[in-house]
Amino acid sequence: MQKFNSIGIMGGTFDPVHYGHLIAAEFARHEFKLDRVIFMPAARPPHKEINEVLNSEHRYKMVKLAIQANPFFKISDLEMKRTGKSYTIDTIRYYLEYYRGSDIFFIMGADSLLMMDTWKDYQELSGLCRFVVVTRPGYVIERSDPALKNLPPILWERMEFLPIPGLDISSTDIRHRVAENRSIKYLLPLEVEQYILDQGLYR
Ligand code: NAP
Repeated sequence: MQKFNSIGIMGGTFDPVHYGHLIAAEFARHEFKLDRVIFMPAARPPHKEINEVLNSEHRYKMVKLAIQANPFFKISDLEMKRTGKSYTIDTIRYYLEYYRGSDIFFIMGADSLLMMDTWKDYQELSGLCRFVVVTRPGYVIERSDPALKNLPPILWERMEFLPIPGLDISSTDIRHRVAENRSIKYLLPLEVEQYILDQGLYR
């Protein structure tokens, strides 16, 4: 197997994937010299009701279309093949074994960090890999923030903050726009927009 120094994992519900996700992954790739970024659609996101989320096959196909122009971006169906909830710690354990000797970076949004003390085995997870937390302009995270008091010290040692251009794009807003027959052009790649329209998603 090809040897990599560093691998990024971009986990998400991607319901649907949009330019906010792609910019986060690309800026992290460049800043931390990642050999590849693996997009990991969560089949059964632990913090969401499964009937609130679009079928994972559609979300997977949309990510595949979105990343096709970037040779550093890959997609994995690991969490789709696994049964049960899509816990990040299981994914990271798998990749630590699969890419033994490579540095693993989990790329996440600042909002996810604020919730991380609710994740499965977050104390152990904190010590397993490195974390890139992407932040929007003007979004400052202080260690003293009461919302972060449960995060273990080792996480702070293994975490990097990466400011990215603020794109006020969200998957929720895109779903609402489609349902209301409003334009979603330029919020996500053209191929994904076309897929949503062709398949009649989010109506
Ligand atoms: P998501 O909504 O699809 O978003 C994926 C990531 O992209 C998030 O970190 C999100 O950060 C970021 N993002 C979205 N729009 C952005 C924008 N415009 N600009 C910059 N960043 C943007 O995914 P998610 O449902 O939050 O899940 C994220 C990961 O956490 C998944 O891998 C999930 O499995 C994992 N997770 C694990 C557990 C667990 O193990 N127990 C629990 C919860 C989540 P923001 O949040 O800042 O938008």
